Amino acid sequence: MTMILESSETFLSIKKWKEQIPGLAAIFSTRNGGSSREGFSSLNTGLHVQDEPFNVITNRNIVGANAKAPLEEWVCAEQIHGSYIKEVDRTYKGRGSTNYQDSIKGSDGLWTCESNVYLSLCFADCVPLYFVEPNSRFIGLAHAGWKGTVQNIAGKMIQKASESGVDASRIQVYIGPSIGKCCYEVDETVADQVKHCLNREDHSSLTKKTNGKYNLDLKMLNKQLLEDSGLKKEQITLASNCTSCEEDLFFSHRRDFGKTGRMSAVIGWRE
Ligand SMILES: [Zn+2]
Repeated sequence: MTMILESSETFLSIKKWKEQIPGLAAIFSTRNGGSSREGFSSLNTGLHVQDEPFNVITNRNIVGANAKAPLEEWVCAEQIHGSYIKEVDRTYKGRGSTNYQDSIKGSDGLWTCESNVYLSLCFADCVPLYFVEPNSRFIGLAHAGWKGTVQNIAGKMIQKASESGVDASRIQVYIGPSIGKCCYEVDETVADQVKHCLNREDHSSLTKKTNGKYNLDLKMLNKQLLEDSGLKKEQITLASNCTSCEEDLFFSHRRDFGKTGRMSAVIGWRE
């Protein structure tokens, strides 16, 4: 386990932020300590994956209670592998928390400056991006699979923050657990888009394999995109976890051939 994340059974939390940013909850749930069965065993938090809704809601309540981020105050998005980012406030509290149909439509990113509004997105290999700027109380959360990544959802979040008056040089970003370069093979079509999404000629997130395919480091690519949008290295922290390798801790869409659960990333200010 990496030093960057601190673990309980049901969730990991960002250690540095927990120590340095009072009042902030920023967590990533594990697959353990829940009530779902079989491929969803046991702490599946995805409502859209053919698991029993009752179990998923129970699991979400477990995460919410353990992390002191009550489920009634979660705001969840539909997540369509796009790059649209929605500003939410307390009037959105509870949206999508117990019913997927009610989630924020067509969005893969959420942000707010309000307290007791817990932004929440589901993951099983894609990259969770957490954003915070304590002075302005800006927090953001984004879902970056390869599509959202090459559409630069990371840079778009920085842009949203800047447009709302946040000093981008003070934003901290945490790039959370996702499928690692070790396990993430992509084809030429994806590699082509990766090669063209940065402002500069840098293909270091790709490693060409002998079978004509590539291994892609999605976390590194998001870091590079954030640097393109003006952030300094010191503002960005990367988790070392691979959701595919760490079977005891995480669900993995690739490893489990699609039929699997979801972890939740949650970020919010406790009043
Ligand atoms: Zn791996």
